[in-house]
Amino acid sequence: MLRDMKTAAVVSRRRFIQSAATAGAVMGVSARPVMFAAEAGKPARLGGAAVRREPFPAWPVTAANDEQALLEVLRSRKWTRSYGGQMTERFEEIYAQYTGAKHCVAVANGTSALFASLAALEVGPGDEVILPPYTFVATLNVVMLQYALPIFVDTDPDTFQIDARKIEGAITDRTTAIMPVHIGGGVADLDSILAAAKTRKLPVIEDACQAHLAEWRGRKVGTLGDTGCFSFQASKNWNCAEGGAVLCNDERLAHKIYAFHTNCRARKVSGYNFSYLGSRGANLRLTDFQAALLLSQMQRVEEQARRRDENAQYLAGLLRQIPGIQPAKTHEDCTRNAWHLFMFRYQAERFAGLPRARFLDALGAEGIPCSGGYSPLNKEPFIKAALESRAYQRLYPPETLKNWAERTQCPMNDRLCREAVWFTQNMLLGPRSDMDQIADAIRKIQRYAAELAKA
Ligand SMILES: *Cc1c(COP(=O)(O)O)cnc(C)c1O
Repeated sequence: MLRDMKTAAVVSRRRFIQSAATAGAVMGVSARPVMFAAEAGKPARLGGAAVRREPFPAWPVTAANDEQALLEVLRSRKWTRSYGGQMTERFEEIYAQYTGAKHCVAVANGTSALFASLAALEVGPGDEVILPPYTFVATLNVVMLQYALPIFVDTDPDTFQIDARKIEGAITDRTTAIMPVHIGGGVADLDSILAAAKTRKLPVIEDACQAHLAEWRGRKVGTLGDTGCFSFQASKNWNCAEGGAVLCNDERLAHKIYAFHTNCRARKVSGYNFSYLGSRGANLRLTDFQAALLLSQMQRVEEQARRRDENAQYLAGLLRQIPGIQPAKTHEDCTRNAWHLFMFRYQAERFAGLPRARFLDALGAEGIPCSGGYSPLNKEPFIKAALESRAYQRLYPPETLKNWAERTQCPMNDRLCREAVWFTQNMLLGPRSDMDQIADAIRKIQRYAAELAKA
């Protein structure tokens, strides 16, 4: 991402120099400033000057306290909890306290957090799991790892979150879990999801991998479902290169998750405890280096979250005024959006038919890095291939597999995947003037949309 941005900046600088030179040669020195202004008004893709030439704030952020934290673990020679380290457990205590969860199990990554949740809830072969298609592939992968059947429920294009109104209709007597995702740091409609789950006595696994610090009616997400899963992978708003955590309020379930993540060995209560719990397990442990980094990063997350929120709200206000740009809405009960992504829908009709790919290209050339986000996950050919595998053929009735594609169609999501535009969270960490530049660049592209479409 940063590399793309630098390339865009270099390209636009080159174009700027070219166009300035051309202007000077044709118009003479005295007319140069006038010509410069006219050129500057044009999109970079049409030879004008880019709106922005500086990179957005670098990510991840590091400071002296991170170095200190890592050195401390290094010198202690206790690098993991399986060799006497205390740092992982300290992080678990602090993260549970911070979020208001009763229990926390730190794990190797967000995928492991989801995997351990499904395993501990005994979701397995023959079961159906409800999930959104607008998510990172890991949400799906863990379902397939358990040989469960993924049942996609369509996306609400206004919020980009799972359309909670469509969940009840997707539940069958094979459904064993609902896995909403708080995508982009916004929050899925948890009240409706929890209500649907409650009437059918189904567990809810919150995929909060993008939503650290987000809140639903004043409570931290990840504490409202049966488990809440977090990722601390490098791109996430709170990170330690790779890392994860499961939150949960049920003690028994917490013990099962803990045991699953460390080869079925029970959490030691006092002294050594080598008793085994459960029958399936793996090694999904976090190291104390990562836990130490999470604790040192913790000193910055609140302030960063506030900065992102201020900038994102301001940017959304600016972009809402541009015809054809619709920022993702935050649900009214989401009292805090974590802004892992700033997402909006782009309507090419309002930009003289300029296709989204060309819009993204033009915006990148203005020095504003952006992407089109996810493609439809429910249509990935590898799912179909998996359903044709021997294991799935043995586990599910032929009718179930035959109807799967039809049953998991998500037309709203298909459309959203064609229209979405994303900015990454680090772009929200700079001054407010950065947001003005983003809006300026989009307005400029809109003014010249017909020319860009022809070019
Ligand atoms: C990042 C992410 C994951 C996976 O987390 P890892 O730490 O990369 O394993 C799962 N779900 C969502 C929505 C994510 O964004």
